[in-house]
Amino acid sequence: NGLSLEGQNAIVTGASSGIGAAVAAGLAKAGADVVINFHSDEEGAEKTLSAVERAGSRGVIIRGDVGRESDVNKLFDCCEAELGPVDIVFSNAGIQRDSAFAEMSLDDWEAVISTNLTGAFLVSREAVKRFRKKGLREGVSPALGKIVFDSSVHQRIPWAGRVNYAASKGGVSLLMQSLAQEVGHEKIRVNSVAPGAIATDINADERAENADAIRSLIPYGRIGDPEDIAQAVVWLVSDAADYVHGHCLFADGGMTLYPGFIGNG
Ligand code: NAD
Repeated sequence: NGLSLEGQNAIVTGASSGIGAAVAAGLAKAGADVVINFHSDEEGAEKTLSAVERAGSRGVIIRGDVGRESDVNKLFDCCEAELGPVDIVFSNAGIQRDSAFAEMSLDDWEAVISTNLTGAFLVSREAVKRFRKKGLREGVSPALGKIVFDSSVHQRIPWAGRVNYAASKGGVSLLMQSLAQEVGHEKIRVNSVAPGAIATDINADERAENADAIRSLIPYGRIGDPEDIAQAVVWLVSDAADYVHGHCLFADGGMTLYPGFIGNG
């Protein structure tokens, strides 16, 4: 069926926890073999590998910092050596370093931009090069390759106290669209997913302190699970979405609908 990823190889960055781990497992359930990149949490990566293998797919784990060019190239070398040519790339690794604006250190700014934006650039640039080298694989997918960026509702919603994060995701938005415009004619399909509030490590403290306040921002009334994003990403990279290109799929329970206006008329 159009949702099967049988015979395809995927790379997921930041796959040792949260959304990356769920997407790696989701891609495996759909039939893809998966390169599981992690930064420091090797134990987490091992758990993701078990989930991939339980789904009946092959997986391989590899350490690497997405902000470093040589590390990113190694992810792709690893895929080609261990699994085969890369068909699917989910650029997911991301961090927050929150701070009031005037007190934000240059280090906090650069760390977030390096992982969230430069990482997305390096990973997608290498993906395009490898897709071109590989060529179209007849019978595997009509696309030469598929790239999905993990953006955020904060590519659209400003976020006080996190200008580094919002700026990085705003950057990912136009990176995605400009890249899609540039390489679409080569049958490289480029999209992003924009999660709302998803229960992962990145926001564990905020959820512990403010779960009700967060829920009040979500018309659909629940905080999301990593699997909600996995399902969206699996669809986006599948042939069922073959005509979806340059699109950002908001999976946010309606967070971008300005719920502050409910009952305000
Ligand atoms: P998470 O902290 O569980 O996952 C982030 C992952 O990125 C971790 O596995 C971490 O090890 C990895 N990582 C960090 N720096 C890295 C680097 N330099 N190189 C490689 N890997 C690195 O949190 P998450 O919520 O799963 O975040 C994943 C992505 O989802 C991020 O891009 C985040 O901005 C985005 N996102 C999350 C939410 C949410 O509510 N959780 C909402 C919108 C967007």
